[in-house]
Amino acid sequence: MGRVKLTETVFRDAHQSLLATRMRTRDMLPIAEKMDQVGFFSVEMWGGATFDACIRYLNEDPWERLRALKKAMPNTPMQMLLRGQNLVGYRHYADDVVDKFVEMAAKNGIDIFRIFDAVNDIRNMERSIKAAKAAGAHVQGGISYTISPVHTNEQFADFAVKLSELGCDSICIKDMAGLITPQNAYDLIQAIKAEVDLPLNLHTHCTSGMAQYSYLRGVQAGADILDTAMSPLSGGTSQPSTESVVAALQGTPYDTHLDLGLLTEIKRYFEKIVEIYAPVFNPIAAKVDTNVLVYQVPGGMLSNLVSQLIEQNALDKYEEVLAEITRVRKDLGYPPLVTPTSQIVGTQAVLNVVTGDRYKMVPKEVKDYVKGLYGRSPAMIDPKVRLKVLCDEEPITIRPADLLPAEYENARREMDSQGLARKEEDYLTYALYPQVAPKFLKGAAIEEPLEKKAPEPVRGAAQLKGEPMAFNIEVEGEAYLVKVAPAGMTIEQAQPKAPKDGVTVPMQGVVIRYLVKKGDRVSAGDAVAVIEAMKMEQNVAANKDGTVKEIYVKEGTTVSPGDVLMSIE
Ligand code: MN
Repeated sequence: MGRVKLTETVFRDAHQSLLATRMRTRDMLPIAEKMDQVGFFSVEMWGGATFDACIRYLNEDPWERLRALKKAMPNTPMQMLLRGQNLVGYRHYADDVVDKFVEMAAKNGIDIFRIFDAVNDIRNMERSIKAAKAAGAHVQGGISYTISPVHTNEQFADFAVKLSELGCDSICIKDMAGLITPQNAYDLIQAIKAEVDLPLNLHTHCTSGMAQYSYLRGVQAGADILDTAMSPLSGGTSQPSTESVVAALQGTPYDTHLDLGLLTEIKRYFEKIVEIYAPVFNPIAAKVDTNVLVYQVPGGMLSNLVSQLIEQNALDKYEEVLAEITRVRKDLGYPPLVTPTSQIVGTQAVLNVVTGDRYKMVPKEVKDYVKGLYGRSPAMIDPKVRLKVLCDEEPITIRPADLLPAEYENARREMDSQGLARKEEDYLTYALYPQVAPKFLKGAAIEEPLEKKAPEPVRGAAQLKGEPMAFNIEVEGEAYLVKVAPAGMTIEQAQPKAPKDGVTVPMQGVVIRYLVKKGDRVSAGDAVAVIEAMKMEQNVAANKDGTVKEIYVKEGTTVSPGDVLMSIE
């Protein structure tokens, strides 16, 4: 017990939660030197969605951000969030990519790796933990916290023991949805402390309105480190405010001894930053949302869905989707809702509601999850759902990444043949994001302007009879345009403008690849193309029997609902 330490999240989780991960490096550097004087335990500034956002929206090299902040803050440990075998992406990568990524992240300046797995399958964390230890870094083992009939404090404490046995230097209770109650923060920390003698970090979000109470009870139970965010970027779906936590603990046995005057100077800087980023600031994300207490849905996951459905006078669909999320989560064995399982459960729930036929449309990621490719689910997957999703395929029981052949050398060769890599790190950028990286590495990416996006045209609910409805859904701070059809109709049936013989896409996404070529014979229902939508791969099916006459859209192109991919005759 004693002096509590703080991890400052303003450069990662706070702007990922409130500003759609859009903060630029040029807006971080001017204040970095001052922040370096505070004496934070660490500054979380890399990983999570920041890598993706840098190359996809900001035309920024994430590796350069890391080096620049490291240089500007030599006295403060640099911390990143690493999604176990998923690294900073949305699927498992082969072990050689994991090894190389962790090695280069450490080489470029990461001192502390917070490593977690969405379903708490330790086999998905072993490789990255080992790599980070080998690089001489501090490894913080993360426990994805959730509430369900099958999760208990004893299990979480057992998991902490496993993490310490792998050599973790500290443990983090990662409550990504802000679900932990003050009393359970106390009980859980006591349960872990009784088993593991390692520094313990409590990470939560203000979404449900309980975070500050939980922090106080947490430090009373022995939490050593708390995650906080500078006040202008605190609260709501972000962390509790740094200054408030410092003030609240002053004069207690847990005093952080941080300088409130210095923090106030830093705060003034971020007040200006929040003004600059007003166009991407989602006011809904800054509010307390008590739905999370009932549905266990992380804040922000469906916030855009709410506002769109209100505008369309169809809020009843929102409740339906929320209730369906609860059912899908049960069907899938109660995974904690965090990237990527939050997308897996959320997307399936949306599809179940909008198609009006549960598990009729199943994205590839849901199938992979049921197959065990994301790891072992906390509870058994409903056998009926398994049968519907997998048919007669058997799920795997081995470590998922054991199925992945080495992929780093291939990525190197492909990059070299295109002459796009200028440094070792560029190979990794490509290996992680093969669809997005080439454009960025070519220098063809454009920084997204900081302006309010024009609202999507809103159609009245009355028009829904025979026409799809478009709305934005937010996943991990990213907005996606999703098209839904009235219950009982498929999106294709409801599609108004598509030519009769055209194969159209149901959602906004990127054409990943075609499964057929001009002249191929296809049958209605055959998968003919794969698009990436809502960060998931979805098959596009042939709408009739015939021969592929023409393909209109190139692979790699962004498509909108109703765009015609090909014609079949
Ligand atoms: Mn978080």
